[in-house]
Amino acid sequence: MRAQSGRMIRKRLLGFAFASSDLLLELDAKGATVFGMGAGPTTALSAESFRGIALWNRVAPASVEALNDVLKSLKPGARSAPVELLFNAGEGRLRRATARFFLLPELAPNVSCSVTWEGAAYALHDPEAAPALAPEAFLERARQVMAPPAEARDLAVAFVDVEGLAAAQSMGEAGERLNARVEAALQAASVDGATAGKLGPERFALIRDTANEVDLAGEVQEIGRSEGFDLQASATEAEVTAGSGSLSALRALRVAVEGCLKDGGAGQPEVNFSAALSRTLNDAHAFQAMVRDRRFDLHYQPIVDLKTGAVHHFEALARFKGSASPANAIRMAEEMALIEGFDIAVAEKALSRLRQQGAGLLKFAINVSGASLADDRYVQSLLRMTASRADERRRLIVEVTESAALSDVEAANRRLGALRAVGIKVCIDDFGAGAASYDYLRRLSVDTVKIDGTFVQGLETDPKARTLIGHLVELCRSLEVETIAEMIETQGCADILKDIGVDLGQGWLFGKAEAEPRTHLAANEPVARRMGAVASWG
Ligand code: C2E
Ligand code: MG
Ligand code: MG
Repeated sequence: MRAQSGRMIRKRLLGFAFASSDLLLELDAKGATVFGMGAGPTTALSAESFRGIALWNRVAPASVEALNDVLKSLKPGARSAPVELLFNAGEGRLRRATARFFLLPELAPNVSCSVTWEGAAYALHDPEAAPALAPEAFLERARQVMAPPAEARDLAVAFVDVEGLAAAQSMGEAGERLNARVEAALQAASVDGATAGKLGPERFALIRDTANEVDLAGEVQEIGRSEGFDLQASATEAEVTAGSGSLSALRALRVAVEGCLKDGGAGQPEVNFSAALSRTLNDAHAFQAMVRDRRFDLHYQPIVDLKTGAVHHFEALARFKGSASPANAIRMAEEMALIEGFDIAVAEKALSRLRQQGAGLLKFAINVSGASLADDRYVQSLLRMTASRADERRRLIVEVTESAALSDVEAANRRLGALRAVGIKVCIDDFGAGAASYDYLRRLSVDTVKIDGTFVQGLETDPKARTLIGHLVELCRSLEVETIAEMIETQGCADILKDIGVDLGQGWLFGKAEAEPRTHLAANEPVARRMGAVASWG
């Protein structure tokens, strides 16, 4: 009777156990399977196939250490954390599973183990089954995995470098099979089995669940050994979080991947690569906090009328604590889609300076990244901030920098048109530096063109630069567009520009950017002798 009920209980317990796993095993003190029940995904992994065999002999070498660790750490009565194991599925195939172990005191030293086969069945070594690893497809799938509302999974991006893979590729069929197997293995190790990308001949990136601890490098080397190749693999991970914050994480990933692709996938060792990803993420968070708390200053550089020498207006240039030029932070912010909030904060600061007492004659140019013209937010904010202040609007000029290409020129033109309609002037900055400058000049209605400093700096030595600027000035004149030359450092340069007919000039010759806009330039500066007045907008 007692035996009967004991068996009943055991059956019932097995029923419960099966509700949450596919296969149940009991291992003896030597690790040999003394009891097996349940289903394998294939006959090669059936419960029967485990009978009498030590579990170590059923998992891939890459999983042996994980298996040892979990068995060593087992405490009577306590269940282990889930551990990912790779099982040999016969015919050179591997199968991923999550296993949990339990040391039931009554059964000690035997150990109970439940196995759940992971995801859809995949053939690890079947090239046909390997999804595409193109970087774009990888980024798109990464976007899907990381997009809110992702259940809060802790994700990491792993970078795997495999030395020897490219050489093997050129060694015929075996090498190709090796490549296909490595690709398939990494794909299978990624979140959802489809978030790996090949960034170079020997470099991969994949999104991983941080809970998943399979030794990727070991697995890849194991595949190499089984195909008769000596591969050197290394893997590192950088954490990225799903859900909130995933946008910046994803962008950082994009930046890192694109940087890597620029290198042709070779370049720096992947340790640096993942470090770069973490750094970009940190920088982005720091930048966001800096913008939120308005922890930056504006400095003001004079722009003078080249004919009269009078200060015409000032360009407001951002200054961050501890760095001379904002250029790098701004480039990062553009890439990370953080620039619009910053540009709005700059406008806010410039306007508050414009509103200070005694600032009645000052006129400011503020920079706006082309990226901030991709939607209405920037322009709407600027219109709102200056609503019913027509005089202020007339004292503002917006310099559009081309560093981030305008994705939709027509829409950008509409938005800039809304600014011009209320009296805010618009300038194309760094004209000539980007490939699209003439296209922008044709398609954007603007008041001013600022000729890129690289042409200006070559002016005294390079006759071509002079010809180029000459033509540009003629063109602008016929379009009724005003011209500014930037980075004027010498009087000789200023003289040439004036002769060519450039209207306004900016550069160290007239003054560097300073914390306060100075309308009276120092007496020893050449133009200053002729100035003292603030010119009108014209
Ligand atoms: P930019 O708008 O073309 O600004 C002119 C840059 O040239 C400034 O560098 C200025 O300090 C520098 N410069 C002026 N005169 C001379 C000169 O005679 N010689 C030389 N060698 N350099 C001169 P800065 O301040 O480092 O700014 C770099 C870029 O960062 C700016 O180029 C602009 O594109 C961007 N930037 C600065 N402030 C802002 C901002 O508030 N918002 C946005 N979106 N971008 C900004
Ligand atoms: Mg500018
Ligand atoms: Mg410039």
